[in-house]
Amino acid sequence: MNVAVLPDFGQDFVFEQRPIPEPGPGQVLLKVIAVGAGLSLEHARMGRMGGSTPRIMGNELSARVVRVGPGVLGWERNDLVTSSFYLLCGTCEWCASGRESLCDNFRGFVGIAADGAYAEYTVLPAHNLVRIPEGVSAADAGIVADAIGTPYHAVRERLKTVPGDAVVIIGAGGGVGVHALAVARAFGARAIAVERDAQKIAELERRGLADGVVTDLDAARELAGGQINGIIDTVGSSATLTAAVTAIGKAGTVVVLGFTPGASIQVDPFRTFNEELVVTGTRYTTRAEIAAVLRLVAQGGIVPVIGARFPLSQLNEAYAATRENKVFGRIMIDVADDDGPA
Ligand SMILES: [Zn+2]
Repeated sequence: MNVAVLPDFGQDFVFEQRPIPEPGPGQVLLKVIAVGAGLSLEHARMGRMGGSTPRIMGNELSARVVRVGPGVLGWERNDLVTSSFYLLCGTCEWCASGRESLCDNFRGFVGIAADGAYAEYTVLPAHNLVRIPEGVSAADAGIVADAIGTPYHAVRERLKTVPGDAVVIIGAGGGVGVHALAVARAFGARAIAVERDAQKIAELERRGLADGVVTDLDAARELAGGQINGIIDTVGSSATLTAAVTAIGKAGTVVVLGFTPGASIQVDPFRTFNEELVVTGTRYTTRAEIAAVLRLVAQGGIVPVIGARFPLSQLNEAYAATRENKVFGRIMIDVADDDGPA
């Protein structure tokens, strides 16, 4: 099979032929169709998310089940699936409580701590898989598990958004940002986009993806009538975080979603107390939430935004595009055509 291998952190991907792997106990062999590529994986490529090399990266995938390993129940050949990014134990208190991204026995990330999906075939733990329902294309499903699942968790669990809220997304033209707008709207909020890049602003307006597009938090606050209920910061720099905790309204919540290495937050303790402000992080999503997002996509409640597509052979060009941060929406890597059930 053709694979793209990261030989060492910070290097370019190299292309190799390898034997198709065998699924071990509890594992499933998948034929990969499409895989997303986002900025977090560029951090991973640089070695900022742990793991080891050489490594086949790629986690946000759509694929068909080819063969199941010993002891696997519930999955069959030809099932269309995506996967959680996290290697979870599935049995600790956090996994059992539905907050599995806080797993006590977290073993790292698919495609960083273990080989992932920038390959024609990959082997994953069966309990990572989430079924793709009828009505969702393989390409769309390939970006659900991170680019939409992550903001879904942020809006539903961290912001606890209700209809009528004003929700502001910082970095709204990025792969997670555009989908955060869509999720906020799906929960009945007025979604306000903060974006600096002129092309992304034009694209947000042309596609009608936000209820308002502005370039800074002051303008966002004005648009929200002075009361912003929730802010999701996908950039996570000291400047954006400070602007967010300054602009948030009474009883509002600021969610740290993106991270910029070395950034810090300055929070006024008196205002935090006096106005019952919440500053919180949001960590990925759960398999149940991925399934919920897939249903929303199937019903047309959220439309995935794929800004650029590259074949696996142009993986280095795709990562260059994530670094330049010019692509609107999510970047998709097409690994193989889906031939349908074989
Ligand atoms: Zn666990």
